[in-house]
This record gives sequence, structure tokens and C-alpha cells, in this order.
Amino acid sequence: MIISFNIKLIKEKLLMKNRYLRQLAFLPIGKKGQKKILEGKATVIGLGGLGSNIVSNLARAGIGFLKIIDNDFPDITNLHRQILFDEEDLIKKESKSIITKEKLKKINSDVFIEDIYETINENNVYEIIENSDIVIDGTDNFETKFLINKACIDMKIPLIFGSAAASNGMISSIIPGETPCLKCIFPKIPDDKFNLTAMNSGVLNTIVNIVASIQTTEAMKYLTGNYDSMIKGLLIIDIWNFNLDIISIRNKNLNCPVCN
Ligand SMILES: [Zn+2]
Repeated sequence: MIISFNIKLIKEKLLMKNRYLRQLAFLPIGKKGQKKILEGKATVIGLGGLGSNIVSNLARAGIGFLKIIDNDFPDITNLHRQILFDEEDLIKKESKSIITKEKLKKINSDVFIEDIYETINENNVYEIIENSDIVIDGTDNFETKFLINKACIDMKIPLIFGSAAASNGMISSIIPGETPCLKCIFPKIPDDKFNLTAMNSGVLNTIVNIVASIQTTEAMKYLTGNYDSMIKGLLIIDIWNFNLDIISIRNKNLNCPVCN
């Protein structure tokens, strides 16, 4: 009985050891990078299309600590793109943050997860992002994105901005003190093609997956110290007409009220 129990334990340990084998075999990550990911603390704001993909990627990659925030419940119109929710969740009457935590625990029980059911605002944003190594934006409106941007710059925490609507996506990696911030790139809320929303323009699940994957990759580059490989500027992608462009924005906007 004791012998079979020990064999089971050894098998489990071997299985865990192999868990990240394919990831750490990727040279820019390696064992050193994997250790940093395992020690990493990420905050993901918004658990919709982008957020649910991002937290799934991060949990599978072995992030050590994950703080997840959302103020909503899953809805039938979410299911085509929000990968962690299914039909059963619609009748549970539980928040996205609680459901997400339960799903992530099944994916990787080693990840420490703090779930927060709240609307992010100027009173709670600083407390929410405090002690994070990185913040990843899964929100769907510029008012909230600007709020998070300011808090990240004030607290010197890197932010991976992302948005997806119709077949278009945008991503930018904002490192306080080094790169332009979101307000440098967009001094005011854009009223053109840069501010499409899933509500007014629809959204393809494929562009959501792609933007979330790029955001997660940027976070992993940062956590593993691969700063030189990070996006410099604003990456714009259209998955339908296939266009990919990086608008180089190297300098901060001298009139930016957030950076200066
Ligand atoms: Zn700025």
C-alpha cells in the first residue's frame, strides 16, 4: 500500500517536472526564464474575449500569481469568443471572476489566483495593481484603458495594452519611464477606426485570440527579461484583409499629461 502510494507520488512529481518541458525548450525562455514565470505576478483586468484568453495562456505557462478582475456575468453573446465560458456557466449565476478562477484551477492548480468582482475605477485601481510585476489590459473601452494607463505609469508597472474589434487588433507594450504611454499614443479617445468596439462593429473570435496571444507573449518576454524583443510602438493587425503594421512611436509626447 505504502509502496504504491510512493510510486504514485513519484509519478506525479515527474509529471509536474515535465509540465513546462516544451516551453523551456524554447531558448529565449529556458530554465531561467521558466523560473521567472513561476515567480511572476500578473494582473489581468477584464475577463472578456481578451482577458479569458490571456489568463488561460498565463496559467498554462505557469505564472506564479494571477490577479483577475471583472464586474460581469457570462452572457450568451460572450460564448463565441470568451474561451473559458460555456453553456453551463450561463445558468450558474456566478460572476466571470469566480468561474474563471474555478476553470484556471483545473488547468493549473499551482497558480495562486486572486479573483476580484469589481468595476475598476480611480478609487480602487491603485490598490488592485499594487505589487504586480505586470498589468495586462483586457478591457473594452478607452476610458478604463486610460485609467489603467495612468495608474501603471504612476506606480511604474509595465502595461500591455490590447484591443480587438471587427477584424482589427492593436497591441502596445508600455514600460513606464522608457516607452511612450497610451496617452502619448492616443492623446484623446479616438473617434475613428482606432476605437471600434465589439458592440458597434462586431468582432471575430480569431482576432481576439491573436491579440490576446500577442499580449501574453509580450508579458512573457517582459517577465523573462527579453526586453529587446518587445514591441516598440503600436502594432496594428487586420486578420481579414491581412495587414500587419507597427507604427513606430519611439518618443514620448511632450504634452502628455500622464508621462510629464
Ligand atoms: Zn504619455
